[in-house]
Amino acid sequence: MTEPIAETARVFRFAPSPNGFLHLGHAFSALFNLKLARACGGNLLLRIEDIDPVRSLRLYEDALIEDLDWLGLVWTGTPRRQSEHMAAYRGALEGLARRGLVYPCFCSRGDIAKNCGSRPDWSRDPDGAFLYPGTCRELTAARQKARIKAGAQGSWRLDMAKALGEIGAPLSYREFHEGGSAQIVTAEPFAWGDALIARRDAPASYHLACVLDDHAQGVTDVARGADIEPATGLHRLLQALLGLRTPSYHHHRLVLDEAGRKLSKSKSSPSLRDLRRQGYSAVDVRAELSRRMQVEL
Ligand code: GLU
Repeated sequence: MTEPIAETARVFRFAPSPNGFLHLGHAFSALFNLKLARACGGNLLLRIEDIDPVRSLRLYEDALIEDLDWLGLVWTGTPRRQSEHMAAYRGALEGLARRGLVYPCFCSRGDIAKNCGSRPDWSRDPDGAFLYPGTCRELTAARQKARIKAGAQGSWRLDMAKALGEIGAPLSYREFHEGGSAQIVTAEPFAWGDALIARRDAPASYHLACVLDDHAQGVTDVARGADIEPATGLHRLLQALLGLRTPSYHHHRLVLDEAGRKLSKSKSSPSLRDLRRQGYSAVDVRAELSRRMQVEL
């Protein structure tokens, strides 16, 4: 359900990816954001993170809107779709490229695995992927052009050392807690190495699109799952490089299944529509989430 935009200082958002049906974890995050927004008279925005052109399906977008409506989520304005803002992402990416802070990378995931997988102590990023070994970092402009001319489609990586050098000082952000207290946290972007900033098939990755959108939508408070917490350090660095505002962050506990595992769209976690079909109401879902998470929703 949508409601008119209130002129207020605080703006929250819920930003699902339409690559599967929503489950209880999404329901918690959405309702928790609504609760936080309501508590301070703020707005809750909805953003459709459909930056991945292969896995994002309109079918899932329609389904998630229907599920959120059923759940009783109320958001302000029209949902923002990332696929409609590619020009803005491209502009930011080109700006970083002009400053020499990103470089095109022609390595496939398989190339990187072959290169790093045989080295038992090779580090991984917070998502579990091998840290990029830097193969394409030193390609000359002529070789980059030749690869593109030969039909190679590059993704884009942040030159982490250069980026940190340009910023010079440690970065931090504000992490707020449910009771209203907050602390200043030091950002740790280096754990990502030369992070992927733009996909082969889109001028942004999740990280770049997310910080640009949070800024464009005037988001002041980001409440999202603890699994995304390691990305916040990288987001803080991108904000500093691009001159974007930094929201306050809250990383909430994840809803786990009976066996204590994280819910997943691809594994067999029941979706909200499964639960609905089984006869559960939105009130039942809220009550179950409040019980499991010990948070009144
Ligand atoms: N699109 C992400 C997801 O569905 C959420 C990212 C965020 O909240 O920053 O997990």
